[in-house]
Amino acid sequence: MGEERASSSSSSLMATMEEEMTLTVKWSGKEYTVRVCGDDTVGELKRRICQVTEVLPKRQKLLYPKIVGPKLADDSTLISQLPFKSSVKMTMIGTVEDDLIIDPVDSPEIVDDFELGQDEAVDLKDKEVNKQKLRRRIDQYKIKVRNPCRKGKKLLVLDIDYTLFDHRSTAENPLQLMRPYLHDFLTAAYAEYDIMIWEVMESWSSGLAGKGWGGLHWGLISKNFGKTFCIVLINVRTLHSSMKWVELKMGQLGVLNNPNYKITALLDHLAMITVQSESRGVFDCKPLGLIWAHFPEYYNSTNTIMFDDLRRNFVMNPQNGLTIRPFRKAHANRENDKELVKLTQYLLSIAEGGDLSALDHRSWESFVEDSSKRRRRV
Ligand SMILES: [Mg+2]
Repeated sequence: MGEERASSSSSSLMATMEEEMTLTVKWSGKEYTVRVCGDDTVGELKRRICQVTEVLPKRQKLLYPKIVGPKLADDSTLISQLPFKSSVKMTMIGTVEDDLIIDPVDSPEIVDDFELGQDEAVDLKDKEVNKQKLRRRIDQYKIKVRNPCRKGKKLLVLDIDYTLFDHRSTAENPLQLMRPYLHDFLTAAYAEYDIMIWEVMESWSSGLAGKGWGGLHWGLISKNFGKTFCIVLINVRTLHSSMKWVELKMGQLGVLNNPNYKITALLDHLAMITVQSESRGVFDCKPLGLIWAHFPEYYNSTNTIMFDDLRRNFVMNPQNGLTIRPFRKAHANRENDKELVKLTQYLLSIAEGGDLSALDHRSWESFVEDSSKRRRRV
């Protein structure tokens, strides 16, 4: 119904897309309100609901009187395609993670990355609809500063999963899953860069086994139902939000209280925006513009670099992203992974120059080789 109305003329489509509406969501005997726009997706709606209820998007089931069929279950459905009315309440069914997490360990291990065509990537970044989403996110999302920004420093933004940590392997101790040289890397980078960590929800699939994750009282049972499922019991009520989880994880790796460097801020999945590409459909990305808007006197496109194992996360800032080789299968690869050592050299070499976005970070390895050759010649 909504679809027909919206497609009847392009001007009414634009009005529907941009219009912000307030929806009431009933959950667990209480009512919550969330604000979304027509060009937001159901996935985005779930993130807004997560913000007020702390029920993770993947645990939410949404019910709405007039919507039957798969549309409301599909995270890529646009809000404008659904006949929502502000006067009609939505019901959400879902459980907060503090009691039980059931994780199919055999869910796809490799998160698919993809390359967008050069033209398309440029297009996505410049699309008005995406710029608007970014503006709304800038208004909604508050970045909590853990340690003051430092004048004259550049900014390094780091992903966690597969970048700093192998979240898919199991271990007695999380330190066994940490990427080698992490603390050396952060210590060296800190001389020239403020550091922020931007985590997304992949980490909820963490399959850590045993006891030792911060003295939490939890256990793990693996059962074989043809597939392996691990059931993690967490008794700690403070694990509600994704931000708490990021803090826990980074705290356990010793990243938040290291005497040799300080983390300026942590960001979580609620800071992401959803974009839509013609060839790849709907996906989430990490817009650095959100950070730049919050700290304009410190950071901008000329002094920021982001490391992530997924190139698509850079789509709003293709010139500021460096695709790091994913750190997977920690037990097998721990001995030989030198990625952070080489990237330390790169970060320090480029810190001497000017505009970071003028560099081609895809060829960072040859840059490191060239500069070490130059040094040898001298
Ligand atoms: Mg990652």
